[in-house]
Amino acid sequence: LFLAFEGGEGSGKTTQSRLVAIWLRDQGYDVVQTREPGSTKVGMRLRAILLDAAERGLSARSEALLYAADRAEHVEKVIRPALERGAVVVTDRYVDSSLAYQGAGRELDPADVSKVNAWATGGLVPHLTVLIDTPPEIGLTRLGGAADRIESEPLEFHERVRKEFRALASAAPERYLVVDGTLRPEEITRSIQDRVREILPD
Ligand code: C5P
Ligand code: MG
Repeated sequence: LFLAFEGGEGSGKTTQSRLVAIWLRDQGYDVVQTREPGSTKVGMRLRAILLDAAERGLSARSEALLYAADRAEHVEKVIRPALERGAVVVTDRYVDSSLAYQGAGRELDPADVSKVNAWATGGLVPHLTVLIDTPPEIGLTRLGGAADRIESEPLEFHERVRKEFRALASAAPERYLVVDGTLRPEEITRSIQDRVREILPD
């Protein structure tokens, strides 16, 4: 079972993906909790480049390709091996982040970003993607002073990102759970557990 968590800055996806991993482990599942970018040896180096990319004047296309490279490593070295041995994989960000940030955010052609990512992942799609949908003005406030490159983008950038995440979810509702990120964390956790319970293997 492959679960992805998506959402904008400060949406709480890191917290909620950790909680679902703990909850699944408590039920005896073998769980691999992971994140993007930076969950492999090469990925850690790519993450460092990507997170201070503004200084390096990285072009939007290079950025999209480096995220895709990180994801290709992640799928081949971490995600597929785990799924093959029957583990539940919970990832904090996946392909939708690139469609939202590099596609909508950086205004690259979404069809190109989609193609590059389909190739990078060998077409691996999560069984369920949890989108924690949070208005950017709320998410960015939660982050406080921890502003890195992306977090210092204008609000319109984050609004395009949010809109794209929502559009992806509406296009395939059977593969998504959209949760209101302004709810109390316990309520968010409960709706995630309710949905995941329906698709858990025996
Ligand atoms: O998930 P996390 O907050 O650690 O992501 C690190 C940064 O990378 C964030 O600021 C996020 O917006 C950015 N990012 C991106 N494109 C992606 C994935 C993450 O710009 N495909
Ligand atoms: Mg961040």
